[in-house]
Amino acid sequence: MNLVKNKAKIYYDAIIKYVQRIECVSGPDSYIFMYSCDSPTYMYIGSLSQNDDDNFCFVGGLVHEAYHIKQCKDYTIEHQIDPLQVPYDVYGNRQGETRCLLAEYDVLKQIGAPQKYLDWVYREVIDSEWWEE
Ligand SMILES: [Zn+2]
Repeated sequence: MNLVKNKAKIYYDAIIKYVQRIECVSGPDSYIFMYSCDSPTYMYIGSLSQNDDDNFCFVGGLVHEAYHIKQCKDYTIEHQIDPLQVPYDVYGNRQGETRCLLAEYDVLKQIGAPQKYLDWVYREVIDSEWWEE
């Protein structure tokens, strides 16, 4: 996290501001990321090992989920409504996903992630139709 704090402070601040609780879950899948906009906002993170590759995935996932929460939370404040009333289009579907992927791409770029990660995230943005239906 120091890497993010030093090199991409805007994302570090977003994680601190929007994610109130992080729970780690262990399981067979290495990269599980889930989020909830309800109070307290929280995310689940799957078990990760300690190599650099995982660190990049970890940071990318963290920022990605934090941005889902950010979009939802900002909307509740702007419109003075409950998180459950926020339309899914605001923070999910193509529009929401794309914003999260762009944030993920940007933070990975700022912390110097290898090009293969940037390519992977970029492809997700380009191929972002998969969650539409
Ligand atoms: Zn997402």
